[in-house]
Amino acid sequence: MANFQQLVNVAKNCPGYTPRQNQFTSMTSGSECDSCDNCKNYVSNECQANLFDSVLAGLDER
Ligand code: SF4
Repeated sequence: MANFQQLVNVAKNCPGYTPRQNQFTSMTSGSECDSCDNCKNYVSNECQANLFDSVLAGLDER
């Protein structure tokens, strides 16, 4: 299962990232709203576009 930091890093590097609701998220906290959690393709804690694993594999893991 991915942790929050992974969701953010993947979303920032994902070609398929599609924010669900722009206006609302940009009003709430400003900077850190890029996350799979905010992506339309992320349903039931899973990427429906099957991009998560490949994007994560492309990041350097620490
Ligand atoms: S949920 Fe999938 S498509 Fe959306 S940002 Fe994450 S990996 Fe990319």
